[in-house]
Amino acid sequence: MESMEIKDRLKQVKARIAGAAEAVGRDPDSITLVAVSKTVPAERVAAAIRAGVTDLGENYVQEAQEKIQGLADQAVSWHFIGHLQSNKAKHAVRLFDLIHSVDSLKLARALDKRAEVIGKVQKILIQVNISGEATKSGIAPNETLALARSIVQLENLHLCGLMTVPAFFNAPDRVRPHFKAMRELRETLTMKFPDLGLSELSMGMTGDFEAAIEEGATIVRIGTAIFGHRPR
Ligand SMILES: *Cc1c(COP(=O)(O)O)cnc(C)c1O
Repeated sequence: MESMEIKDRLKQVKARIAGAAEAVGRDPDSITLVAVSKTVPAERVAAAIRAGVTDLGENYVQEAQEKIQGLADQAVSWHFIGHLQSNKAKHAVRLFDLIHSVDSLKLARALDKRAEVIGKVQKILIQVNISGEATKSGIAPNETLALARSIVQLENLHLCGLMTVPAFFNAPDRVRPHFKAMRELRETLTMKFPDLGLSELSMGMTGDFEAAIEEGATIVRIGTAIFGHRPR
């Protein structure tokens, strides 16, 4: 694994995405692969882009800023997937095409304000704490509707869907019910309020992305399987 080129790993990941999609009758092209590049130096990110990566995910605003500036001539989309503090909203709006981790109205309002200042409509997802642990970021499932309804009032945000980071990493069968619950949550909200615009479901990482795709993920966030293990 460690000696494999990024290109070969990417090819394998794409084949696994296609396999999982086809197993449940989905079009593999309807699934966006976000290559998670936290802790990965810019040269290796550039290699991933040469190998065909179109979407990159980062967890820390400051780390991402340096990479994004260094790779500014590359036609790729940048995703923010980490915990975001309201006081970093300004930078996040400037740097990222899609912010996956909106979990409060306070943060949504801060992003809306900053988007207005630079004349941007910021695409966002609501992060849901589907497995309900106290330590995880995300809003409770039963508060998601209220947050979504407040967010759709904000003119400089475009709500695209939901995201989750469930418990039990690397245990697909234990995490599958949570993926399923996310799909059901989206379906319930969309049925009641078709104008919410919750078409995207961002879920699934190296240890469990096939289960996530089988349960309806439209965006998977994969780091280790593409870049190898991160330093601790
Ligand atoms: C690090 C991270 C990933 C990627 O994890 P891997 O297990 O390396 O694929 C995906 N989503 C989030 C929110 C992350 O923090």
